[in-house]
Amino acid sequence: MDDSVTNPLTSHVPYELSRRWLCAVEDIAWTRADSVADQVYPAAVILTVDTPKTGGVNVGAWLAVSFAPCSEVMPSCSDNIPDYDALIIGAGLSGMYQLHVLREQGFRAHVLEAGSGVGGTWYWNRYPGARFDSESWSYGYSFSAELLEEWDWSEHFAGQPEVERYCNHVADKFDLRRDISFSTRVAWARFEEESCSWRVGTAAGREFRARFLVTAIGLLSAPTMPRFEGVESFSGQWAHTGLWPKEGINFDGKRVAVIGTGASGVQTIQEVAKSAARLTVFQRRPNWCTPLHNGPISEAEMDAIRTRYDEIFELCKQTTACFVHSVDSRGTFEVTPEEREAFWEERYAGQGFGIWQGNFRDMLKDREANQMMSAFVADKIRARVNDPATAELLIPKDHGFGTRRVPQETHYYEVYNQPNVELVSMLEAPIERVTPTGLRTRDRDYAFDVIIYATGFDAVTGSFDRIDFRGAGDVTLKDKWAEGPRTLVGVMVDQFPNLFMIMGPHAALGNNPRSIEYNVEWVRDCLVHARSTGAQRLEAKAEAVEAWANFVHEKAQGLLSNEIDSWMTGVNMNVAGRQHRRLVRYAGTAPEYRARCDAIAAGGYEELQQS
Ligand SMILES: Cc1cc2nc3c(=O)[nH]c(=O)nc-3n(C[C@H](O)[C@H](O)[C@H](O)COP(=O)(O)OP(=O)(O)OC[C@H]3O[C@@H](n4cnc5c(N)ncnc54)[C@H](O)[C@@H]3O)c2cc1C
Repeated sequence: MDDSVTNPLTSHVPYELSRRWLCAVEDIAWTRADSVADQVYPAAVILTVDTPKTGGVNVGAWLAVSFAPCSEVMPSCSDNIPDYDALIIGAGLSGMYQLHVLREQGFRAHVLEAGSGVGGTWYWNRYPGARFDSESWSYGYSFSAELLEEWDWSEHFAGQPEVERYCNHVADKFDLRRDISFSTRVAWARFEEESCSWRVGTAAGREFRARFLVTAIGLLSAPTMPRFEGVESFSGQWAHTGLWPKEGINFDGKRVAVIGTGASGVQTIQEVAKSAARLTVFQRRPNWCTPLHNGPISEAEMDAIRTRYDEIFELCKQTTACFVHSVDSRGTFEVTPEEREAFWEERYAGQGFGIWQGNFRDMLKDREANQMMSAFVADKIRARVNDPATAELLIPKDHGFGTRRVPQETHYYEVYNQPNVELVSMLEAPIERVTPTGLRTRDRDYAFDVIIYATGFDAVTGSFDRIDFRGAGDVTLKDKWAEGPRTLVGVMVDQFPNLFMIMGPHAALGNNPRSIEYNVEWVRDCLVHARSTGAQRLEAKAEAVEAWANFVHEKAQGLLSNEIDSWMTGVNMNVAGRQHRRLVRYAGTAPEYRARCDAIAAGGYEELQQS
């Protein structure tokens, strides 16, 4: 059988089916659904996928696999539905580790994953230039000394291919794949009071059941497309950065458009500019970008890092957001102007998020301090961009430095000095529609061979909204969170018994794997506790959720970022109903967060109803 089909998302790009062609068919249905219709397509739609290069996809065979008797697929069944102690949705860093620790404790656990491989973020985001902004050696799992010992990072900020290789290495090392169903997109999950368990259904119509359900569905995993007319009418290649085709896209000699200048857009632009004949960047609002200063890690340096792992992870435990950068205890105005300038110069010349996460303590709260810092970075942009008008377009005017996520760049600003690169402000000339040959702005038509949508994600709650969660009394999670998410430490929700979330709303974020490991272990300990007490039903008490919501609000007081539209304040102009600010992010420190969670566990989980 020919191993390629047409990926409707990328128009005529052949889609490699490397391992199981059936997996990729469901991938396609998903990418098409998410990018175009913003909803999951039912299995029947898969039948209509145009697959001229396959010589006829055997959909019957695929359906047979989907509906195969569960005894052939899973070890334990009740009323013909595979039954587990715990189901985990998602095989990114969160889901993989959750599976590992639950299995270690003897739970029958299973993972349902939409993609055909592990890695989550690092599986889907294959766009050119995709890489860490956490230091590689602070991002990897810390739980296994053996893993730390045997894995070498090649760069201080590793690129997507390396991170995906790492995730696959972890999956192989801990033999995770045998308990993961790939190409399995969960469409709904219902709590059944009678059996005190979750019944879970996939987009393809399969069903599973488990006493406990753990979501590991990511905070940046629901890609969003702009609401332009004519997206599918474009006759060239197009792709969203978060759903990049596995076979890649060649830009040599092509006319390329990149829409969006957030973190993914910046990484894409600086890479595509190297080979495209012409690159046109469509920018709605600029971001404050600062140098990543990436570099290779030599063998000797890696050996030295290895000897410091304990120290590195201990440091990550102490810092506000689990990065290796610590906030400077001084206030912006407690130092002389010369000291301030020298400090910022040193941070600007340093690696990674030091300039954001390791700045003066008042930089994100004190308006004057923030303005001064913004002026410092604005001057850097002016110094790096030759054309003063272009430089002004690249300098944010609607928010201060660090109040939105800071993209990390490598020669990003210098790209605009290249003769093959043009910047178009969508504020001055909004895109009106996609045409068969390119894009039409208010001012003119542009012709392109490739359009790249770097338009980001429906962050934090988007991946939850794409699953129809129904808790006790058939209450939906979407309704429950209509005015903004409310959780107990980002892990549990009242009226949703036995449901746990990793990286859920109002959990600690930052250098995420550090929080992921903590949350995964917290959930494990909670399930072990339930087993030891014989409790079958665990539900967050409403008053405990209320208390956590109040704490989250208290911690957000006074932050300048609250006054800014961004994914961190729940705003996404491309998603209906996401135009108003909501508090989706916990803004306290990670140590405070863990102290609260530890207290819940130490107190015997009194914040939960246990029966
Ligand atoms: C481009 C990019 C760069 C990033 N860089 C960094 C960084 O440098 N440092 C950092 O700390 N964080 C970074 N992040 C955040 C990153 O998402 C986290 O670090 C981490 O990978 C999250 O892991 P996760 O397993 O929780 O979620 P994800 O990696 O998002 O995995 C979620 C998984 O759930 C699956 N899934 C979702 N919904 C369903 C469903 N309905 N059915 C079945 N499966 C489903 C998805 O397919 C995915 O595989 C970055 C994010 C992006 C997008």
